[in-house]
Amino acid sequence: MDRFKSSSIVLQKMQNFRIFFSTSIKLIGIYSHLIYSYSLSPYTARKISSPSLKPYFICKQRQISRASVTRFLDTSSAQLSLVSWDEGDANISSEVISVNFFFSRKCNYSCKFCFHTAKNDYTLPLEKVYEGIKLLKEAGCEKINFAGGEPFLHPFELGMMVQQCNKLGVAVSIISNASCISPPWMKNFGKYVDVLGVSLDSFDPVTNGFIGRGADVDNKHLSRVLNVRDLCEKYNIKFKVNTVVSTLNWKEDMNTNINLLNPMRWKVFQVLLLHGENSGANGDLRDVRNLLITNDMFQSFVDRHSAACPQLVPEPNNLMKDSYIMLDEKMRFLNCQCGSKTPTDSILEVGVNNALKQAGFNKKAFLKRGGIFDWNKTKGL
Ligand code: SF4
Repeated sequence: MDRFKSSSIVLQKMQNFRIFFSTSIKLIGIYSHLIYSYSLSPYTARKISSPSLKPYFICKQRQISRASVTRFLDTSSAQLSLVSWDEGDANISSEVISVNFFFSRKCNYSCKFCFHTAKNDYTLPLEKVYEGIKLLKEAGCEKINFAGGEPFLHPFELGMMVQQCNKLGVAVSIISNASCISPPWMKNFGKYVDVLGVSLDSFDPVTNGFIGRGADVDNKHLSRVLNVRDLCEKYNIKFKVNTVVSTLNWKEDMNTNINLLNPMRWKVFQVLLLHGENSGANGDLRDVRNLLITNDMFQSFVDRHSAACPQLVPEPNNLMKDSYIMLDEKMRFLNCQCGSKTPTDSILEVGVNNALKQAGFNKKAFLKRGGIFDWNKTKGL
């Protein structure tokens, strides 16, 4: 009876963190211990142990951040402790389940830390992009995240690409600086978009201006983000926020405003130096060195926000570097293992699997940073 009661308390705690329990709690006796099964994610299973009651399995139907689980453990039971973040990868059949396609480097902003700078203005012809999307789908890709540059500087091409993904059953995510997402575009193509993420590093217009997010005298970045949030709501698109933490914002308290924005996911990145992009060396378009922060500074930002913002997903430098499958404007994977972006052969020339061998992708880090989450649009609205 006591054990039943304590499982109800655990459930209540999980709900407090907005973790959706889709089915039931099952209690099964094994060797005089209990297995508690929570349905939380379609892809991953996380194993948790306790000194007194073991083993526990949390089967996740939704991505939850490391911070959320840690808080759950801290506040639910002193007995519970996290054993592994990497269980369940056997359920992920493809290395390319989630691909980031940086289809153009062109951007209208000039963020000081940018790590995919406007070194050229090349874009592939649409029919080549369609060919690439088909190859990715055949290799097991389930989601493409369109990034840049600023993707909405190419509204027609972007619309055609997301439509093509939809046709092939590939989920669509887009990352934008929020400056040129128009209502007509959303009306025409919003139905093909599952997740729309916007970059927002500060709620202070002066800081945003200093970072380079918008060139207005009276910085309007925040009001643009709010407009996009409203458009997402209107077109049933999951709204996400990306924040880069640097020397310019690491002390900021964003709790209240993030909760007002209410993104389904808040990615918080530690600013990253990449040679060839933002190292300040000859030929690099940015110099990020004055913006770099220590791991402790980054952690203090995460600690300040993780209690009030359970959707926070932290990405320190060590998790970020090799945990993304990135395709550049020529559909070449970008290998960051050496601290710069080295392009592989194009998937259009050698195929996905051959190009992937050169990509330096770290699947464990991908899983650890919560790369799998519930990215599909809610149906039926
Ligand atoms: S909006 Fe993004 S792509 Fe554009 S300059 Fe800023 S970081 Fe770079």
